[in-house]
Amino acid sequence: MVKSKIIAGPCSAESREQVLKTAQLLSESTNIDLFRCGIWKPRSSPNSFEGMGEKALPWLQEIETIYNIPVCIEIATPQHLEMAVNSGIKHFWIGARTSVNPFLVQELATATKGLNINIMIKNPVSPDLQLWIGNFERFYKAGIHNLAAVYRGFSTGNPLPYRNDPMWKFLIDFKRINKEIPIYCDPSHIAGKRKYIYEIAQRALFLDVDGLMIEVHDNPGNALCDNEQQLSVFEFNKLIEDLIIPSKSTERNNDLKKFREYLNVIDNELFHLLAKRLDIIKDIALYKKEHNIPILQIDRWNEVYNNSLEISQQLNIDPSTAETFLTFLHETSIQYQEKMFCMDL
Ligand code: PEP
Ligand code: MN
Repeated sequence: MVKSKIIAGPCSAESREQVLKTAQLLSESTNIDLFRCGIWKPRSSPNSFEGMGEKALPWLQEIETIYNIPVCIEIATPQHLEMAVNSGIKHFWIGARTSVNPFLVQELATATKGLNINIMIKNPVSPDLQLWIGNFERFYKAGIHNLAAVYRGFSTGNPLPYRNDPMWKFLIDFKRINKEIPIYCDPSHIAGKRKYIYEIAQRALFLDVDGLMIEVHDNPGNALCDNEQQLSVFEFNKLIEDLIIPSKSTERNNDLKKFREYLNVIDNELFHLLAKRLDIIKDIALYKKEHNIPILQIDRWNEVYNNSLEISQQLNIDPSTAETFLTFLHETSIQYQEKMFCMDL
């Protein structure tokens, strides 16, 4: 059974006391695999706290020595990498504002040649899967094979209670394309607020992520950055205790075989039914076109909508699931009819 990796630590190193205190409290409670800590912070405004820089490197060395927990930091330039490697750090992450820039990533990848280090790459701020995947190829070509991905959602501007849009589909697509690269979730940056971290972390675990990266501060209320999303050590311990962490053993999957076979049969039937439905829609489109009738017939749609919601209620289907499914059917139907209307028959 492979254990989920737990990476925890403050958004940023603020003082020697703060990082050592956080590491001490963590070492006395939950077993973590890596202590995270930003020392160069990519902030929107130059007037914000931009990290303690290289001054913090000896504090991190102390953590590794005293508490025997390896430390990871964010690097954004070859100079950051050089200073950190010289002070013995072996674990790094590339942040979401760096992973968006292929020139910078290439410079970093080139600078890692010949080093025995581990690199985690956060998804770029914008939802561009190929750009993210290209980053892994750049490091792989430079000879860095200890790579992992960190999923931290996207800055889309969509109004959400969360800071970033999780767009879980991207995580699933990444896992489908890159089966060999472990992927961790950073629920702290998706959430933006402490109260959402649990639900995001749990969903990520249900989507079979290989670990979590969580911001933890010894006194989050006074943190110099991301103070609304950092957990206290107490809250972090409770979170880890409350989360259902599914085992990653593959043996257990054998029990699922029977259910999966049922699902395959049902999916097959669903697709056959969908094909039949689309055939009828083509006939309807031809009729409407011949008689010059608009595609959208709102009374008919209301009737379908209400009937289907009633049936789904009787079948105990959650109303929002029923609504998503109906919307898909209706939008597809309209698109098909539009295509038929535009075709020369
Ligand atoms: C961070 O991990 O502190 C950070 C800056 O995250 P991101 O690059 O995901 O915004
Ligand atoms: Mn942060």
